[in-house]
Amino acid sequence: MTHRKAVGIDLGTTFSAVAHIDAYGKPQIIPNAESERITPSVILFDGMTAIVGTLAKNSSVAEAEKIVDFVKREIGKPKDEFSREFGDRSYSAEELSALILKKLKADAEKYLKEPITDAVITVPAYFNDAERTATITAGQLAGLNVLQIINEPTAAAVAYGLDKLDQDQTVFVFDLGGGTFDVTIMRIESHGIQMLATNGDHRLGGKDWDDILVNLIAEEFDRAHGENPLLDLQSYQDLQSRALAAKIQLSSRPRTAIIHNHNGKSVKVEITREDFEKRTRHLVEKCKMICEIVMQEAKLKWTDLDKILLVGGMTRMPMVRQMIEGFSPTPVVDDVNPDEAVALGAAIQAVLLLLKEEEVSGEKVLPENTRQQFSSREGGLIQVTNITSHTLGVVLWDEAHLEEYVFPMIRKMTAIPATAKNSFGTATANMGKAVVRVVEGESTLPAECTPLGICDVELPAFLPKGSPVELTYEYNANQVLEVAVHAYGNEAKVTIQRNTGLAPAEIGSATTAMDVVKVV
Ligand code: AMP
Repeated sequence: MTHRKAVGIDLGTTFSAVAHIDAYGKPQIIPNAESERITPSVILFDGMTAIVGTLAKNSSVAEAEKIVDFVKREIGKPKDEFSREFGDRSYSAEELSALILKKLKADAEKYLKEPITDAVITVPAYFNDAERTATITAGQLAGLNVLQIINEPTAAAVAYGLDKLDQDQTVFVFDLGGGTFDVTIMRIESHGIQMLATNGDHRLGGKDWDDILVNLIAEEFDRAHGENPLLDLQSYQDLQSRALAAKIQLSSRPRTAIIHNHNGKSVKVEITREDFEKRTRHLVEKCKMICEIVMQEAKLKWTDLDKILLVGGMTRMPMVRQMIEGFSPTPVVDDVNPDEAVALGAAIQAVLLLLKEEEVSGEKVLPENTRQQFSSREGGLIQVTNITSHTLGVVLWDEAHLEEYVFPMIRKMTAIPATAKNSFGTATANMGKAVVRVVEGESTLPAECTPLGICDVELPAFLPKGSPVELTYEYNANQVLEVAVHAYGNEAKVTIQRNTGLAPAEIGSATTAMDVVKVV
C-alpha cells in the first residue's frame, strides 16, 4: 500500500498556515520549525538560501532589497509583468510562492516525521483562473500533488462544520487578515456550497491599524526629541513590532503603553482602547461599507442570513465584533480560531478527497482509523459551486456611437459551469472574417478590460453588413473558458489560454532551478 499524507494549506498574503488530520481524526494546525502556528509569508534571500518566515519578516525593513513579501498579490502574473531578481536568477510569483510552500512542507514533515504528498490549497473567492492555475503550479513546484484549490470562505465553512448540518443556510464570511479584507456570502444546501457574492479590499488589513500606532509614537518622539524615528530603518522596524504587540494587547486590555528607544532617547506613550478605536474608526467604517455593498450584490437583507463566520486574526478585535453585531442581528459564530479556520477546513477537504480517490481506485492510501472516522462523517465531500468573479465579454462595434464596446456574455457572480449564447451582426459589408475578441472585466470600454484571446471564423464573400454570427461562451468548473464562433456553416473554437505566469514547458526548468535554492 502506498501511504499518502495530505495537508490543508492557507497560503496567505501576510501569514500562511498548515493543518492535517491527526490520529484521532481531528484537524490540527502543524507548528513550523520555530514552533509557531502561523508562518509569515515573507522570504529573505541570503545568497542561494531562501529564509522563509519570522526571521525574514524581522529583517523586512532593514534588508528590504533582499526581501519578498505580499507575493500573493502578484500570483497569476506572467514573468514579464512580475519577477524578482536574486543572485543570478529571476523568480516568478509562483516560484516565490513555491519557496513559501517548500518551507511549510519541510517543517510539517519534520514535525509529523513523515513525507507530505498531497495538499488542498486555499485561494480568495475572487481569484480568477490565472491566479488559481498559478497557485496549483506553485504547489507542484514545491513537490506537492495539489488535490484541489478551494475558496478560503468555503474552507472556513467546512472548519465550522456547516457542511454537516441538516438545514440549508445562508452564511456571511467576514475575513479580515493582516493585509486583506474579504467578505463572501454563501448558500449551503444539501452539502453543496454556492457562492452568492464576494467583495473586498485587498489593501486593507491589520497593517493599517498597526500603522496608526506607528505614526502616533513617531509623532510623540518627534515632539519630545525633535527627531523622526521612522527615518532609521532599524528603529522603524522595531516600532512596527511594538505597535503590532500593542494592538493585540488592546484586544484584551483597556489600556497599554508603548515604549520606544532610538539613538539613546526614549518615549513612553500610553494609549487606551477607546482612543485607539477612535483613531481607527475610519478603517472599520470602510469594512462596514464593503459589507453593505456585498449584501446589495447578493440582493439580501441582514435578516436573510443564518450565520456570520469570523475569519482572520483581526476579527479578534472588539471593535470589529461590535461593528458586525451592530449592523446585523445574525448570530456570529466564533468557536474556531479565526486565523486557523481556513487551513483546518482545507485539511478536512484534503482527507475527504483522498477518501474519494480510494473509493474510485480501490487502492488504500489512508491510515485505517482516518478512513473509519471520515467515512462515517456526516456531510461527506463538499460539492463546491463557484461563481465567476469577473465578467467575461466580447468586443463589439457600436454603430450608433461609432466606437467599440464590451458586451457581457457571462456576468460576474454567475454560477459555473456556465454557458452563454448570443448572435451578432457583422460590422461591415463583405467582411472576410468575424473576429471575436474575448475580454475580462467590468467596464464597457475595451481598453479597461483584460484581453483574454481571439477567435475568428472565415465568412463567405459578399455578406451584407449585419449578417448573423453566433457566439458561444462555455466556462467550465475548472475555470477554463471555451469560445466557439459559428457563421454560415463555418466554425472556429478556442480554449482560452490564460496568461498564467509560467508556461507548462517552463515549469520543468523551474523545478530544477528551485532545487538549487535551499529553503530554511
Ligand atoms: P491573519 O492574516 O488572518 O493571520 O491575520 C493576522 C492579523 O491579525 C495581523 O494583523 C495580526 O496583528 C492580527 N491579530 C492577530 N491576533 C490579534 C488580536 N488578538 N487582536 C488584534 N489583532 C490581532
